[in-house]
Amino acid sequence: MKKNIPVTRSWMPPFDDYCREIEDLWDSRWLTNMGDKHRRLEEALAEYLDVPYVALFTNGHLALETALQALELQGEVLTTPFTFASTTHAIVRCGLTPVFVDIRSDDYTLDAKKLEECITDKTCAIVPVHVYGHLCNYEAIADVAHRYGLKVIYDAAHTFGMKVNGKGVGQLGDVSMFSFHATKVFHTIEGGALTMKDPDLYQKVVRWRNFGLGGPEEIVNPGGNGKMSEFQAVMGLCLLPRVDDEIARRRALVDEYRKQLASVPGVQLSPDRTHVDANGAYFPIVLREYPVSRDELAHILLSEGIVARKYFYPLTSDAVWHGKSLFKDTPVARSVADRVLCLPLFGEMDMEDVERIVSIVRTHGRRHDG
Ligand SMILES: *Cc1c(COP(=O)(O)O)cnc(C)c1O
Repeated sequence: MKKNIPVTRSWMPPFDDYCREIEDLWDSRWLTNMGDKHRRLEEALAEYLDVPYVALFTNGHLALETALQALELQGEVLTTPFTFASTTHAIVRCGLTPVFVDIRSDDYTLDAKKLEECITDKTCAIVPVHVYGHLCNYEAIADVAHRYGLKVIYDAAHTFGMKVNGKGVGQLGDVSMFSFHATKVFHTIEGGALTMKDPDLYQKVVRWRNFGLGGPEEIVNPGGNGKMSEFQAVMGLCLLPRVDDEIARRRALVDEYRKQLASVPGVQLSPDRTHVDANGAYFPIVLREYPVSRDELAHILLSEGIVARKYFYPLTSDAVWHGKSLFKDTPVARSVADRVLCLPLFGEMDMEDVERIVSIVRTHGRRHDG
């Protein structure tokens, strides 16, 4: 009986470590509202992520919404449709209008060359996504933002721990959002953070995170509740010292996938990041001139007990809640969304799992016409 392989599997600290770290909460009864665990995790993450300010949140999505609120934006936001629904929904739920810009065909991030043609007098910000941990063309994005006076809010959910020119990736733009959801490289069960350099923005963000309260008797903004609890923060405190090992295991698996899939015709791999500090967040393949369709391959893998996921399909611009005709088409993003498949990847996977998956992809990649 072959074992099933999920697309991902949450990793956990040793049970005793977690129990030891939560024990004093039974004495203090300080369960949430920026307690000691929360403070320690913010400090540890500011150092690990190499960013001046970290504001923790109960999830990444609320962090992104809070960033848009704290920047007091209005109007149109340039963004990518090739992302998780969260990115687009944060924009819409803040009363802003998403304007979808196409992506690059090699690394699937927002195509900065196409930004300017989408700018109007209502444009206020750019929300790019470092999708799968592929860094956006941040220099070109910063250049456009600077020339048109636009804010840049990165969805950095996939780039935990990554560096750009020796600096934390969370220093890019005005603010970056990280997700610490259970399925991400680093997690706090549910959780997320905003990172930024500007101390004033940090103050605004933490106020919007806590109902917009300026003090016990001062209500400043119509803020919501985005606070991370102490139990979530403890999970982060237990996992952070081990995250480099988790990333190393993921990278070794990615290397093995890449080596074995390099010679399979019709399978496009992501640009090789093994020389930079890639974090092994996802392993997407894009099928071009491969004998079977993406959906067929996903089905074949599933019949062998292997779950591969169509991240990201459909495009968020194709969501049923607004109808398809609202937005101008983004043909590159559409083509990638129709052909992409994320193969299983998580630290506890074995090299034999990779071999089993690759052998299926290889077998079905052989043309039956010769
Ligand atoms: C996971 C994810 C989010 C949302 O984060 P949560 O912590 O699950 O709320 C947003 N954007 C992208 C690209 C993600 O992958």
